[in-house]
Amino acid sequence: MVENKKVVVVGIPGVGKTTVINRIAEIIKERQKTIKVTNFGTIMFEVAKENGLENRDELRKLPISEQKRLQKDAADKLSKFEDDVIIIDTHAFIRTPEGFNPGLPYYVLQIIEPTHFIIVTAKTEEIYNRRMKDETRNRDKAAITTIKKELDIQSAMMSACSILSGSPLSQIQNNEGKLEEAATKIIKAIGL
Ligand code: ATP
Ligand code: AMP
Ligand code: MG
Repeated sequence: MVENKKVVVVGIPGVGKTTVINRIAEIIKERQKTIKVTNFGTIMFEVAKENGLENRDELRKLPISEQKRLQKDAADKLSKFEDDVIIIDTHAFIRTPEGFNPGLPYYVLQIIEPTHFIIVTAKTEEIYNRRMKDETRNRDKAAITTIKKELDIQSAMMSACSILSGSPLSQIQNNEGKLEEAATKIIKAIGL
């Protein structure tokens, strides 16, 4: 039996994860494979909405204990999918008022059992501009130096995930106007 691929895609806010993943889904569907695209934040938000939260960008401001509860619940839900390719759109860490909270702590990795980790990245200036331009979201505005620091923290967090899971890690550039290239490289990196 061919094992299904559980691909965890991370990237700092505004780097273009969701955009690239949507393109990957279109390409993989043309190849007669079943693919499930899941957004970790959306699954957390669906539960949080029942308790009155109005905006997904408020999730990271909830008490850490509540974020952890929603996080574990989302991981449990994600682990139930059985498609050939399961893509999980998420974050290596969440910037919270209490510090950088891991998006993929050990208990989440144990539930999801990822087969591949992908870091979507871009030039710091590109990320900065995307955050400034995209009015559909309420992202925290950050200086270029802060974005550089976030990329360093992401790298450290993802090394730990790859070591703990024993699954490979790839870093893919999503440069301006190069969406197709980024999507193609990710598909190759997951062995499809
Ligand atoms: P978040 O973590 O906050 O959900 P994200 O990483 O999913 O962010 P997107 O919402 O996919 O980011 O993209 C942010 C913005 O960048 C969007 O306006 C999108 O259209 C734009 N964008 C993404 N990729 C590219 C690209 N290769 N070239 C130009 N613009 C892009
Ligand atoms: P996104 O649309 O990817 O920015 O996700 C929205 C929000 O969901 C993020 O700002 C976080 O608050 C939350 N979120 C997403 N993934 C995780 C995760 N793995 N652990 C904890 N919170 C997460
Ligand atoms: Mg997104």
